[in-house]
Amino acid sequence: MRNPMFVYDEQTTDLVLSYCRERLALDPVPLDYGGYAPHLKEMLDGLIGFSGNDPQVVLDLFLASLSKAVVSIDSPRFLSFIPAAPTKASLLFDMVVSCSSLNGTSWLLAAGAVAAENQALGVLTELAGLPPGAGGTFVSGGSAANLSALLVARDTATARGRARIAVSEEVHSSVTKSIHILGADALFVPVTDHRLTGGALSAALETAAVDGGGPVIAAVATGGTTNAGIIDDLASTAAVAHGHGLWFHVDAAYGGGALFSPLARARFAGIEQADSVVIDPHKWLFAPYDCAALLYRDPSLAKAVHTQDAAYLSAFRTTPRPPGESPAGPDGGDPWNPTDYAFQLSRRSRGLPLWFSLAVHGIDAYRDAVESVIATANEAARLIEATPHTELVREPELSIVLFRRKGWARDDYDAWSASLLAAQIAFVVPTTWEGQAVGRLALLHPETTLAVVQEVLDSMA
Ligand SMILES: *Cc1c(COP(=O)(O)O)cnc(C)c1O
Repeated sequence: MRNPMFVYDEQTTDLVLSYCRERLALDPVPLDYGGYAPHLKEMLDGLIGFSGNDPQVVLDLFLASLSKAVVSIDSPRFLSFIPAAPTKASLLFDMVVSCSSLNGTSWLLAAGAVAAENQALGVLTELAGLPPGAGGTFVSGGSAANLSALLVARDTATARGRARIAVSEEVHSSVTKSIHILGADALFVPVTDHRLTGGALSAALETAAVDGGGPVIAAVATGGTTNAGIIDDLASTAAVAHGHGLWFHVDAAYGGGALFSPLARARFAGIEQADSVVIDPHKWLFAPYDCAALLYRDPSLAKAVHTQDAAYLSAFRTTPRPPGESPAGPDGGDPWNPTDYAFQLSRRSRGLPLWFSLAVHGIDAYRDAVESVIATANEAARLIEATPHTELVREPELSIVLFRRKGWARDDYDAWSASLLAAQIAFVVPTTWEGQAVGRLALLHPETTLAVVQEVLDSMA
């Protein structure tokens, strides 16, 4: 007798696909609620036992209760952290990836998927202005990408001793976490106006040369800080970093999507000098979770560091092929194994939803979407200035807008934030800027209108 778990079941398929249809058709996606959900444990009690349940019952439980206890990060009213706005095409293709059981680890297992992922990476490589030959892989997120890149930086450095990596105070927490995991130390570069520059890096390196600490082997700049959307001075930082023989890493996990806008691209000048770049398609490139693009200027350096040697994996290196068939790897080169460019082995072909959506919609549609968000951020800034009870903290560079409600302290922001979500107007949480609580609008969904921003500001009156 066959095990029913492996038999196609029309009814369950219809059940699940019809829900997927409904979720895709939500217009707009309702905000719903996250954290406050006191009865979940009781609701789930006893669900998983020795025998199973009717799929309809389990799906109903998910739909009626669990899915409502999730704040919708893809709602145009979600303006916290970094929102998500996956295209419909990318969401649909994510289902294809799921149903296809792709293992995108190697050329041997999934050349077709890897070739498509590499095409999508190629678009990003070109926008960043990295040289031909640059490449990498998609990993789960900016955190995994930063760690993978900085491991290459550390292991290719020739200096001996406990390594130090230069960063500014505004660097993402995943970078300082990565430095900790690598057994290295952060060298914090003092900066003015929250922006890392070559001058600031140079001064810090001079001090570091005589302070008795370990060798500085890399510098990390941010292409759009997560808290305020500030782009470091990448060109001058690159020049100083390379002048000192450092690896230059650019974390553009959030801001990298703006490379699609020729207007915004100018502010990233110098990114083309990077040894490694991180861009999260699950942020501003409208792909579903989880997806980060990790690019290396010279992928062979990464391959030397990340390749896993195991007896059972040796076939990855010498892809067998039928006699007379085309060469093993792309362009007749060696097989391209995504596992060689990050610390992971097995991997979902998570670049494919982006690839499909890029291929279907074209690059101009991405440019328009990104630019509309930048425009909304600028209009929001003007609105904040024009509103008597609010003031702009600083001019937005990308799509994050910091602002103050005059006279408010942290408790006021927190209480307001909770009531705003309760009223389903928007999800906006405060942040800290120069030691003070401030409001923060993270715009990313092209369908977040100025009217929503107006509602948010009105609610603070
Ligand atoms: C979001 C972000 C990260 C972390 O990325 P995850 O995908 O959440 O792991 C790293 N750096 C920056 C600048 C980010 O905005």
